[in-house]
Amino acid sequence: MNSRDWFDRAQAVMPGGVNSPVRAFKAVGGVPPFIASASGAYLTTVEGDRLIDFISSWGAIVYGHADPDIVRVISAAAAKGTSFGAPSPGEVEIAELIVALVPSIEVVRLVNSGTEATMSAARLARGATGRDVIVKFEGCYHGHADAFLVQAGSGGATFGEPNSPGVPAGTVSTTRVVAFNDMAAVADALSPGDVAAIIVEPVAGNMGVIPPREGFLEHLRSLCDEHGTLLIFDEVMTGFRVARGGAQELYGITPDLTCLGKIVAGGVAAAAYGGRADLMRLISPDGRVYQAGTLAGNPLAVAAGLATLGRIQADDSLYDDLERRGAHLQGRLERALVEANIRGCVQRVGAMLTLFFGVDRVEDWSDASRLDSETFARYFRAALDGGVMLPPSAYEAMFLTASHTDEIIDQAADVLVAAIHRAAS
Ligand SMILES: *Cc1c(COP(=O)(O)O)cnc(C)c1O
Repeated sequence: MNSRDWFDRAQAVMPGGVNSPVRAFKAVGGVPPFIASASGAYLTTVEGDRLIDFISSWGAIVYGHADPDIVRVISAAAAKGTSFGAPSPGEVEIAELIVALVPSIEVVRLVNSGTEATMSAARLARGATGRDVIVKFEGCYHGHADAFLVQAGSGGATFGEPNSPGVPAGTVSTTRVVAFNDMAAVADALSPGDVAAIIVEPVAGNMGVIPPREGFLEHLRSLCDEHGTLLIFDEVMTGFRVARGGAQELYGITPDLTCLGKIVAGGVAAAAYGGRADLMRLISPDGRVYQAGTLAGNPLAVAAGLATLGRIQADDSLYDDLERRGAHLQGRLERALVEANIRGCVQRVGAMLTLFFGVDRVEDWSDASRLDSETFARYFRAALDGGVMLPPSAYEAMFLTASHTDEIIDQAADVLVAAIHRAAS
C-alpha cells in the first residue's frame, strides 16, 4: 500500500486522516508521505523513499531518529514495565537533571504533553497570584488549552477572541493578547495590575522563527517584577535546543516558571513544568493547586528523556555544531534568494530556522501574516521531489539534529537552493 492508499484509509476514520492538523498537508497540497521508519536524519516512506528530515518530530528529536543508545534504554525500560502509577527512581533522576540543566528550575513536575505543561503553569500562576488574567503574544503557540486559543481582538491591548469554536468566551475573557516584540503594548497590558502571568515563547517558533528584539525579554522581566506578575517561558520548543539551558540561558533571563516538552522526553510523549521552589510547592500535594496524571513520569518517556538529557549534559560540541551547520544552511538559502531574485529572508536561532518568502524581516505576527504562502508551497513541493522533507507550512521552523552532518546539510542545501529557483519561476 502506498501513501495515497493509507491516506484514504486514514481519512475514513480520522479527522483529516491525521492526529495533528499540520500533518495533513493542507497548506502545501498533495498527499503526506506515510512514514514507515526513520533513522538519523532520514525518514523512510512506505514507498521506500528516503527523505532528509527537517521536521525532526517538530523539534523533539535532537540526536537523530532511532538513535541506538536511546532505543536501547527505551527497550530496557519497557521490559521492566511500561507504567506503574507509583513513584520510580528514573523520575527522580530526570528531575535532578532538569534542575541541573535549566537555570531557573528548582522544582519540577512531569506531565504528558506541552499543552499540559502550559495549562498547568497558567493554573499555578493564577493560584499563586490570586489573579485571573494571562497575557500572551499574538502568533505564539502554547498548545491547545482553551485559555491559549485566543487571537487579538480589535484594538490594541484588548481581551482576545476565541480562535476555535468550542472555546468559551468566558475563558478567553481572561486572556489578553499583545504583539510579540512590542514593549509598549506589554506595559499597557500589565498596567491594570490584574495580570497573573505573561507567557511567552522566548524565541517565537510557531509563526516561523522570530528572535526576541534586543531588550525585549529583559523588559518583560522588569515589567513583571514591577507589577507582581509572573513570567512564564514556554520553552517547549527552545528548551535544550537553542542552548543546553534553553533560551533563558542563551539570553540570560530568569523566568519564574518554565514549560518544557519535545526534547525533554527524547522523542517519547512527556513534558514538564518547573521553576521557583516557592511557586512549585503550591502544587498538590505540597500545596492546593491541583494537577495530576495517570501516565505522568511514564518509565519509557523518562528513560528516553534521561538518556537524551544525560548525553546533552556531557556533550561539549552539540550546540557549536548545530550553530555552525545552521549558519551554513542559512547562508546558502540567503544566497539562493538573492541569486533567484526572489524576495524573502531567513531567520534563525541555533538549530531552528525559517525561510520566509515575500517579506524582508519578520518581528511579529502582523509581519508573518504577510508572507507569501503560494511561493512557499511551490518551494515545499520542489524540496520534497528532491528528497527533502520540510515542515509542511510556511509558519513553521526547520529543526536540525546532531545527525544532520556537514555532508547531509550540503546535500539538503543543494536541493533547497534548486527548489528556491523553481519556486521563483
Ligand atoms: C509544541 C509546543 C507546545 C505544545 O506541545 P504539545 O506536546 O504539542 O502539546 C506548546 N508550546 C510550544 C512553544 C510548542 O512549540
